[in-house]
Amino acid sequence: MSQAKMEDIISLCKRRGFIYQGSDVYGGLSGTWDYGPLGVQLKRNIMNLWWRMFVDERDDMYGVDAAILMNQKVWEASGHVDTFVDPLCEDVVNHRRYRTDHILKDNGVDADGLTMEQMDELIAEKGIKSPDGNLLSKSRTFNMMFKTFVGPSGGDSIEIGKDVEGAIVPKGKTIYALQYNPTSISYLRPETAQGIFTNFKNVVDSFYPNLPFGIAQQGKAFRNEIAPRDFVFRSREFEQMEIEYFVMPPNRDGRSHEKGEKHLWEEAFAELLEKTHEFLEALGLNPDNIHELDVPAEDRAHYSDKTTDIEYDFPIGKEELMGIAYRTNFDLENIQRVSGKSMKYTIKGTNEKFVPHVIEPSFGVERVLMAVLSNAYREDEQNGEKRVYLALPEHLAPVKFAVSPLLKNKPELVEKAREIYANLSKKNPGRVMWDDNGNIGKRYRRQDEIGTPHCVVVDFQTLEDDTVTVRERDTTEQRRVDVKDFIR
Ligand code: ATP
Repeated sequence: MSQAKMEDIISLCKRRGFIYQGSDVYGGLSGTWDYGPLGVQLKRNIMNLWWRMFVDERDDMYGVDAAILMNQKVWEASGHVDTFVDPLCEDVVNHRRYRTDHILKDNGVDADGLTMEQMDELIAEKGIKSPDGNLLSKSRTFNMMFKTFVGPSGGDSIEIGKDVEGAIVPKGKTIYALQYNPTSISYLRPETAQGIFTNFKNVVDSFYPNLPFGIAQQGKAFRNEIAPRDFVFRSREFEQMEIEYFVMPPNRDGRSHEKGEKHLWEEAFAELLEKTHEFLEALGLNPDNIHELDVPAEDRAHYSDKTTDIEYDFPIGKEELMGIAYRTNFDLENIQRVSGKSMKYTIKGTNEKFVPHVIEPSFGVERVLMAVLSNAYREDEQNGEKRVYLALPEHLAPVKFAVSPLLKNKPELVEKAREIYANLSKKNPGRVMWDDNGNIGKRYRRQDEIGTPHCVVVDFQTLEDDTVTVRERDTTEQRRVDVKDFIR
């Protein structure tokens, strides 16, 4: 398990401008987080790396950016309206609400694969109480989608009947009515995947790609989690990076297990899993902390024939980082059934038509970011003092170079440092920080904490021979480097 403690990471994130509690100034809004300047950069670096590795560097992937608000039929067809639920139980005294499986887990009972009734039985059998020591109610299902209304017939009340001659309400009295039109209901999307499936036909019609091919999307997702917790790990608003990778159905691919062959979907699954490991390696994550879990049938979605979760040793324990699922043709078949539009793909130059099957790698950005931060968090001792630093890989570090004049009251040093800062910034836009606050030791500490790999210091010798001191974050070693070599 990771050595870093959650509270240390949360405190560093707040102190140094990575992540703040959402709406903090008004007392916060549970399950929401705001990214500060360094958090935005780190998150972008992660998301850009993913996009580069999974989309830009491949010729079988197509990117989309679908609307967050979608026609309610999307969520009826996908099953989310009926089944995107978690089991909720309530403290019968103070009415605080909990996720039943989390209550069990917190009491050392694994609830994976259990029905709601089985969970309730276990709670009764083991005499499990709420965290406040009270009895818990029986569980009920709670839909996690945020409902909203689209257009002017939304859920606002309108005033009717005031001072209107002939109105059904006595003159001078006011009544309010709820404007409510069931067709205006929409939901903030709980996953980006459906925005991909609903664009399957569009992409096929525009590009007619050969199978197999994938459609990728990054973007916000919203889940009204019963109990958001563990920092950004379980938030109500978060970001996903998802791919739907379309393949030939197994009954059409001419492969057979009897002959010792793998179906095409199995090959695609293995390739995407391998690519996922490459991505996690590129993030610098310690492979010892990465675990594959082949999800047993009873814990998988009913339509999935194989799901592999990647679990990671977070400071909060071993938890799901991302998942890859073989979703058969469940989603496209549902869209076809509810929309009445064909989702069939025709093999080029033939009359062979079918609804493709799909493999879905699904990453949560916040969980990846939490893994990166907990992997990078280090404490050591320098000159008898405790030091905290983030050993982030250079390509992820929000700031690559910090540039300082040794003394900020010496104009000649400041001028030279400004020149170097400007040149470095041209080569590394947005990734160079000017830092002349406090003494050099304090600057190093601050840059260590935000994970800056190189601190460049301009001193009097720089004015003579155009060399600077470059101090390395992990080793704290200082080297004298020629400016020309440095700003290549
Ligand atoms: P969990 O079991 O932890 O609730 P899940 O299995 O419901 O997660 P999926 O529906 O498979 O999650 O979502 C895909 C990915 O989205 C997850 O692997 C995770 O990285 C991320 N994710 C899901 N829910 C949240 C959340 N509330 N906050 C942050 N990330 C999330």
